[in-house]
Amino acid sequence: MAAAELSASGEDSPALRDLAGRSGREREAELAALLGRALDELGLPRPESAEAERWAVRELAVRLHAGAADPAGTAAARWEHGNSAEGTAEERFLAALRRPCCGDCLGRPADREPESYRVWAAELRAAAALLAGR
Ligand SMILES: [Zn+2]
Repeated sequence: MAAAELSASGEDSPALRDLAGRSGREREAELAALLGRALDELGLPRPESAEAERWAVRELAVRLHAGAADPAGTAAARWEHGNSAEGTAEERFLAALRRPCCGDCLGRPADREPESYRVWAAELRAAAALLAGR
């Protein structure tokens, strides 16, 4: 489950609204902490840490898919993750995140993106769409 899904199901809390306004450039620990606060506020149980990490990863994919975050900014945040099951949408998304196009592209304005960046960004967006389940 991701924050967007909690919102869509009619849940509301200050942390959830805070999450909705984030750019997608937050570090994983920050996002996971916010998700934890939102769950506390909603009176829902917090997941185990491995599960919380998966929520945060999914949240990022949902943001990318919704256009609320861009591939370069997401990769530049340098998320660190444990391993996820091979062949899953999550693993594909994380693999693309760990292998950004290059440092030049990540700091480059969108109107100067070379082909290599577009190929990588398309791969990341496709993986995000799969993981977001849409
Ligand atoms: Zn590049």
